[in-house]
Amino acid sequence: MLTQVADGVWVRQSEWVWSNAVVVRGEGGLVLVDPGIDGADLNELADDVDRLGLPVVAGFSTHPHWDHLLWHSRYGDVPRYATLGCATVAGEVRERAQAMAAESAEGVPLELIGLLSPLPADGGPIPGEIVEHQAHAIGHAAVLLADRGVLIAGDMLSDVLIPLLDARRPDQVCAYETALDRLSEAARDVNVLIPGHGAVAEGPEVAARLTADRAYIDALRQGEDPADPRLSQDWLAGPHQSNLKQARPS
Ligand SMILES: [Zn+2]
Repeated sequence: MLTQVADGVWVRQSEWVWSNAVVVRGEGGLVLVDPGIDGADLNELADDVDRLGLPVVAGFSTHPHWDHLLWHSRYGDVPRYATLGCATVAGEVRERAQAMAAESAEGVPLELIGLLSPLPADGGPIPGEIVEHQAHAIGHAAVLLADRGVLIAGDMLSDVLIPLLDARRPDQVCAYETALDRLSEAARDVNVLIPGHGAVAEGPEVAARLTADRAYIDALRQGEDPADPRLSQDWLAGPHQSNLKQARPS
């Protein structure tokens, strides 16, 4: 089911890690941002999109992790965009992403994973402004729809996921600090924040999300163990330990 969160912006949440697929009405039609996750989800999203009665003109992937690289033939053979960094990495990790998708979700069209092109300089059919940074994954981008007061955040600013440092790259604490500065600047006049996973934040909750991620990263910077309510989820213990390890190299 699509939930309208702003003028011409809809969200469909999957059960798998509360993943949010976002549908944005642009000038020539609809843009699908990070559609997911399993085959039934992707099909239902296609039904929902059919009901909107507008053509899908493009896709956008916020970053090159498998759950953000998905597509379905029912959305059409249209360009799927990302930042240059994301599109390049997506090409390199395609086989691994296919294996992870096959392991994690049923009915994903594996052959359509990660077929991305770099966004043209004028932004092509993607409405809004791309806010690129180096936290969490190479070529990670948020999409700011300033005219609608919406920020699509990718895997940042979630109420369920802690910041997940890119284990393959050094100095992610610094990358997160810079990214959070950029996102907080972008979110100044934003009333609706859509994270890649978790609940959509509205009103004052938007600033609270920024504060929570900042507090977590600040604690890592100070060499402290963060007091973060998201850590009450057992399944985040592993990723949290790996964050601590990266922040405090011995
Ligand atoms: Zn991710």
